Amino acid sequence: MKSFNCQLCGQPVYFENDQCLSCGSTLGYLSDEHNLVALQRQTDGLLYPVSNNPRAACYRICQNAAAWQACNWLVPADSPNAYCRSCSLNEMVPDLTVTANIPLWVKLEAGKRRLLYSLLRLGLPVVSKTTNPKSGLGFRFLKDPAASFRESKQVLTGHSKGVITINLAEADDAERERRRLDLNEVYRTVLGHFRHESGHHYWQQLIANSPDLNEFRALFGDEQVDYDKAISRHYSQGPQPGWKAQYISAYASAHPLEDWAESWAHFITIVDSLETATESGVVITRNLSKQLFAPLDSYWASTFDELLEQWLPLTYAMNSINRSSGYSDLYPFVLSRPAINKLRFVQKIVRNARFQSPAVDQRR
Ligand SMILES: [Zn+2]
Ligand SMILES: [Zn+2]
Ligand SMILES: [Zn+2]
Repeated sequence: MKSFNCQLCGQPVYFENDQCLSCGSTLGYLSDEHNLVALQRQTDGLLYPVSNNPRAACYRICQNAAAWQACNWLVPADSPNAYCRSCSLNEMVPDLTVTANIPLWVKLEAGKRRLLYSLLRLGLPVVSKTTNPKSGLGFRFLKDPAASFRESKQVLTGHSKGVITINLAEADDAERERRRLDLNEVYRTVLGHFRHESGHHYWQQLIANSPDLNEFRALFGDEQVDYDKAISRHYSQGPQPGWKAQYISAYASAHPLEDWAESWAHFITIVDSLETATESGVVITRNLSKQLFAPLDSYWASTFDELLEQWLPLTYAMNSINRSSGYSDLYPFVLSRPAINKLRFVQKIVRNARFQSPAVDQRR
C-alpha cells in the first residue's frame, strides 16, 4: 500500500481515513489515480481535490459514505452511479436495519477496498456484473440465518461464477478466531479471505481457457479432480501428510484450485506488504551482507525473484518485531521451493494480464 499525506497539512493519513485528524479536511480516495486526496467543498456542494489546477475534476462522495460512513472512495460528479467503483460491485449486503450488522459490514467493505487497491494497482481487469454479467465480479456479504432457522444452510464464504460471498461472521474478531482455532489455521483475516476468493475469480478469467493451463496443471495438479470430495476429505482427515514441502499452507493441499487461490493470496500479500515497507521508508538489507537493496516498486516488479529477495529479510524483521512485542509472527509461513515456483507462476500470469490488456494503465 502506498503511503498518503494530507495535502493541506502534510499529516500522514491512512487509506481508510475520510478525514485528516490533524487539520480536519475531508479526504477521499481516487481509485483511478490510486491516491487519497484532501478535498474542498465548493458552493455547488461538489468536492474538489486541493490543487492549483482550476480545472481539476470534481467529485461526490460514494453513497455508502454518505449513508453509512462505510466508504471513503469518490465518484466523479458527472457519473450516473451513486456508488464508487468498490461499492458498485456489491450484489447483496446484510440487513442494515439490524444495528449490530453495520460495523461488521463496514469492516468487510474496508477489506474489499484493500483488495481492489491491489487488483487495480496490478492492472487486473475489475469489471462489475452490471457491465459484464458473465465474466464480471460481484460481492455478497451475508449473515447466517438466525438460530431459529437452524435447518437453513449456513452461509459459506467462497466463490462461484464471479460472485464472492463472505460470511458476515468473518468480520467478528472473536468468531473468526474461534473458526481459525477450530480449523487449526495459522492465519485467518478478513483481507486474507478477499484475496483468496479473488484468486478463484481470476483463475477463471486468466487461466481456465488460456494456453497457461498446461503449466498450471504441471505445477498445481489437475484441477478436474472432484472438488467436493477433496474438500470434505481435507476437513475430515486434515491436510496431506508432508504438505509443508509442497504447499504454501495446509489448506492449499486440499485441491489444486485451493492451492492456486492460496498462492494468489500470498502473492498479493507479499507485493502489498513490500510496497508498504518501501513507501514507509523501511530500508531492507540482504540478510548476510547487510548490503542495501534499491527501493522496489513491487506492483511493477518484472520477476517474482526480485520480490522474494527482499521479502525474506523483511519477514524476518517483521516477525522479530512482533515477537519483541509479544505477538505471534506477522508472516507465519515458510516458503518451500515448490511453493516459490507457484508464486513465480502467479507473478507471470498477473504481469502478462497487465501487458495483454488493451490499454495498460501506466499510472504508478
Ligand atoms: Zn490535514
Ligand atoms: Zn463506495
Ligand atoms: Zn478457495
